[in-house]
Amino acid sequence: MNFKNIHIILSFISLSLMVSSSPIFDGGLYGKAMKNKEDNDDVCSTPECVATSERILKYMNEEVDPCVDFYEFTCGNYMRINTIPDDQSVISPFYDINIDNINVARGILEGEYKGINNSTLEQQNLDEKTFKKLKTFYNGCMDEQNIKSKDKKPLVDLLNQLEIYKNKDTYKDVNGLTALNAKLMIYNAPILFGFSVQTDLWDSNNEMIYLGQTKLGLPSKEYYEQEEAVTKYKEIIKGMLTNILNDENQDSGNFLTKLFGGSNERDFDKLTDSIIELEKKLANIAIPPEKKFDFSLVSKFNIKSLNEKFPYINWPLYFETVFGLVNIKNTVDESTLIFVYGPTYFEGLNNILKETDVETLTAYAEWTIISKYGYYISNEFNKPLKIMDKLLYGIESDPARSEYCINMVDTSMGMALGRFFVDEVFNNNSREMAENLLENIRESMKERIPKMSWIDKQTSKLAIEKVDAIIQKIGYPDFIMDPAKLDEEYKGFEIVNNDFFTNMVNSSKFIVSKILKEVNNPTDRTKWLMTPLTVNAYYSPMSSDINFPAGILRNPFFSSTNPNYLNYGAIGVIMGHELTHAFDNDGKEFDKNGKLSNWWTNSATEEFNKLTQCFVEQYGNYTVDGTDGKKINVNGKLTLGENLADNGGLACGYDAYKRSLSKNKNKNNNQRLPGLTKYSQDQLFYISFGQAWCGKLRPELAVTQSLTDEHSINNIRVIGALSNSKEFAKAFKCKPNSPMNPEKKCSMY
Ligand SMILES: [Zn+2]
Repeated sequence: MNFKNIHIILSFISLSLMVSSSPIFDGGLYGKAMKNKEDNDDVCSTPECVATSERILKYMNEEVDPCVDFYEFTCGNYMRINTIPDDQSVISPFYDINIDNINVARGILEGEYKGINNSTLEQQNLDEKTFKKLKTFYNGCMDEQNIKSKDKKPLVDLLNQLEIYKNKDTYKDVNGLTALNAKLMIYNAPILFGFSVQTDLWDSNNEMIYLGQTKLGLPSKEYYEQEEAVTKYKEIIKGMLTNILNDENQDSGNFLTKLFGGSNERDFDKLTDSIIELEKKLANIAIPPEKKFDFSLVSKFNIKSLNEKFPYINWPLYFETVFGLVNIKNTVDESTLIFVYGPTYFEGLNNILKETDVETLTAYAEWTIISKYGYYISNEFNKPLKIMDKLLYGIESDPARSEYCINMVDTSMGMALGRFFVDEVFNNNSREMAENLLENIRESMKERIPKMSWIDKQTSKLAIEKVDAIIQKIGYPDFIMDPAKLDEEYKGFEIVNNDFFTNMVNSSKFIVSKILKEVNNPTDRTKWLMTPLTVNAYYSPMSSDINFPAGILRNPFFSSTNPNYLNYGAIGVIMGHELTHAFDNDGKEFDKNGKLSNWWTNSATEEFNKLTQCFVEQYGNYTVDGTDGKKINVNGKLTLGENLADNGGLACGYDAYKRSLSKNKNKNNNQRLPGLTKYSQDQLFYISFGQAWCGKLRPELAVTQSLTDEHSINNIRVIGALSNSKEFAKAFKCKPNSPMNPEKKCSMY
């Protein structure tokens, strides 16, 4: 899918039981418990509170006992009243907020420039220049007539310019194959192996080159073994190759025949089979997703040793060409360290290349470009690509053009769009409020650490130091509010009027050249890996920071008009989740400075590992509904880090809420909500947590997510963490051994 899929939530960078027909839940319980507390002075009656209360009640299914199935209790009606739109694979509050953000962005991009406060004329001019760039990019994307009038020509021209077919006979030779790989890399469409620039794992101050496997057409090895997926994938590849490379579809047939060396003679059936065969082999040597963060798989090389070990590429030539193509001084020499993620993959590549003919390599390279850039040409020619959205995500139709274009603007110029987005929705008060909240989360974590059953004094002390050292970033990077710096950020990114395709090509090349510029430079700890518009958050172990874009700091997760218990239950738990990542099975490998090092005592590590088993088993027993009604078990190992973060986040969020009550009493809004007075504030904290994760998803996405994503599916995230929470059981007075209060609880943080 070529637009942002918002189901991937809260990265590391990165069940429900049946509803009982006779309500077991004694509704009177809450009435009784809360009766004497009914006090109208303590109930918030502002329009915002009334609306919030209505929303919460609208989503709940109070017929169900929260101790039996809390997800159904808190989200049952959300799932019943909401339908997944045809152009989406999932619906949830994350999706709802994303739509709100898209609407704000649409207003900006379709509106007039509003100016900037307290600025000089020069600043004003630069700011307006950035705004115009955004509009030019957006308008080019929105002009479908213009895109249609160009047919497939922009993509054909690009293939022509890359001379992939023309040079096919050179791919037998190391230098020819090297040149091809380098060229595709700078168009951000690498084949065979990928290249990235990231912080040195063992010295968190420098940016280094990493080589690793690259993305394939299908998301994982399992898909290449499923007949239906492979049949559909064949349809996609063959359809696109035929659409783009077959000159019969193009008026200027002679020109194309010449260009592709008589492309009408090429057997697209055979080429499609050989591409899939090659991808299948690559999928078989790829490192499985559950080892994504296995840092023992990273080995250090230099150019000389790379050449000795993996001689199918001329590595000095590769780097020279890559840097040369984007006119950057090559900072790589013989001694430069290169980190290889998964050397076994690169060894395997050696054998695969030996048995792959140049026709296959050529078609594979063409397909890689077509599958990336095919989205940006006239829809008449890219229909086969849409089959993928249906296969992997169950998506039936394209999103509204404006939504698609806003996502493209966000991908290409997200910091610039963020500058105007922040102006509209995120003020200093929001930042200050979020900072206060996060402060309580951090303090709670520090208080919890020494009490954790598995930790010893020495590890505990260092863990607390790590909490103190973690940098927190809230809302947006400050530089975007400085017109000169923001202008500088996009220097060299050329945007052309009425030419969406060229703008997307320029965007890819610009992104790659920016990355290349970082090689061998000090790590920039102020850098953000997500744009301000993003409804997501992340922890980056190597930068030792936690990041919360303005896009997620929105109602209903976070609002100045929300009572505290609602904010803590939603955004507070999310903040706790990111902070917990610093101590999950992957994050714990990094010290307070972001350096990969073993700072834990052996006994703490042993105890920690033992406890993780409980989570692997607990989550591994949950199932999700896949296609054809098949049940798929959650991969407890793949999702371990995220599940730990969910559990730690929930515990921390609750503690932080309690902590907030004891501080600045006058400033805290802890009033109850009209219509919800039968629930205590503690109960509403958990209802708010549950409702942040309400949602339903298409079975196709459930399969894709189960096989490849380290996040569990929403209902499991809620049920899993709450079943381990004693505080939750206490708040809802769940009887021991009721489904939501099992005797066996996994506990880590
Ligand atoms: Zn996470």
